[in-house]
Amino acid sequence: MSADLRPVPEHQQRVADLLAGRHPGGPSAWPSEQVALTAARGRVLAADVVAPEPLPAFDNSAMDGYAVRAADIAGASDASPAVLPVDGDVPAGAPVADLAPGRTLRIMTGAPLPRGADAVVEVEATDGGTDEVRVSAAREVGRYVRPAGSDVQVGATVLTAGALLGPAQIGVLAALGVDEVAVRRRPRVLVCSTGSELAEHPDPAAGQIRDANGALLAAAVEEAGGQAVRVLWSADDVDAFLGLLDEAVAGGDIDLVLTSGGVSAGAYEVVKDGLGPRGIEFAKVAMQPGMPQGSGTLPHPGGDVTVVCLPGNPVSALTSFEVFVRPALRAAVGHPHPARRVVRARLAGLDEPLTPMRGRRQLRRARLDRSAGTGAGAEPTVTPWGPPGSGFLGWFAGADALIDLPADGAPLAAGDLVDVWDLATG
Ligand code: AMP
Ligand code: MG
Repeated sequence: MSADLRPVPEHQQRVADLLAGRHPGGPSAWPSEQVALTAARGRVLAADVVAPEPLPAFDNSAMDGYAVRAADIAGASDASPAVLPVDGDVPAGAPVADLAPGRTLRIMTGAPLPRGADAVVEVEATDGGTDEVRVSAAREVGRYVRPAGSDVQVGATVLTAGALLGPAQIGVLAALGVDEVAVRRRPRVLVCSTGSELAEHPDPAAGQIRDANGALLAAAVEEAGGQAVRVLWSADDVDAFLGLLDEAVAGGDIDLVLTSGGVSAGAYEVVKDGLGPRGIEFAKVAMQPGMPQGSGTLPHPGGDVTVVCLPGNPVSALTSFEVFVRPALRAAVGHPHPARRVVRARLAGLDEPLTPMRGRRQLRRARLDRSAGTGAGAEPTVTPWGPPGSGFLGWFAGADALIDLPADGAPLAAGDLVDVWDLATG
């Protein structure tokens, strides 16, 4: 690695520290808010949830069958079935019935166990009778009964702070009647594209291009669990850029400003020229794409703002987001899986050997074939997707993984194992 380039992990740590440092004390110190359960998917729980009631709430039947006193069918068998008069039906949703001794009630799954009953015999072990039923097997006390609180006891901690709210977590809260939860507030991100070549109007004039990074980074922020509160654009004019930023963060409600463009070695580097003198640090990271990076804290009367400056090429901007910003945003709020899943995969589809870069770790767009299965010798295969250059956003759009190539290695051939970041799973 070239001596003047910063190692990737060092810059990852710096960005993570900047975001985490907004609320010293760790993720549990990150501000929280109450949200409706229906809006809680993907959020990180901010406080333990104690079950306000048991689950199930009442003793109920685990099978379609007959509610009985176990003693009334003791010794029943095919050869000598117990015969019980059927006093009626207890469908799911019915109130609790009373079961007289020596008799039975037909009961459905989920229906409340009648008072007096202590077991359920499943319909398969009977003749299914409706006036009287022949039961051809004994069942012990408690058989096919789901006792109240057997899943979650009242007062038990059902979910702990830091849990990620997915379908199962949301489901159990709904079952317990919890309709609002405290979650860590999503980091609020201001996205700012820069470049005088970016068209303001739908039809770019000669030499102008459309802004890809605004939409791209806003989507990346939301996918990472943040909130893209505004997307701005600035021309390559330092005063205009700083004026725009200062106005946008004046409300004090922005956690992170994410800029793109204007950080490399050209003549009109608006972000570097504007934010360098304001204390933002610009460094070269030993990575391709995404070598020029900026980061720091912008002191502001409304509250200090974390700033991360990404390079302008959309492929570089998104790769930099993946490597530095996504894990930092998620770690700051205590997301249980801040990093992408990394899998070992075998290289496939190579026209020529894959040659690692001198001095820079490379993240190559790729397609991961997950169908190969798991276990030794059954690794998935991965195919590089598009050229290594950072100007190929169309290729990135067809990829679902990044091959993580360490710097300076020997050329790799088909069948060699590489580390792959799986972009298709959270
Ligand atoms: P820069 O880092 O500003 O020199 O930009 C590098 C390259 O990325 C240039 O070709 C820019 O035109 C392009 N670029 C910068 N920002 C954007 C953007 N928001 N959308 C699309 N392309 C961009
Ligand atoms: Mg530019």
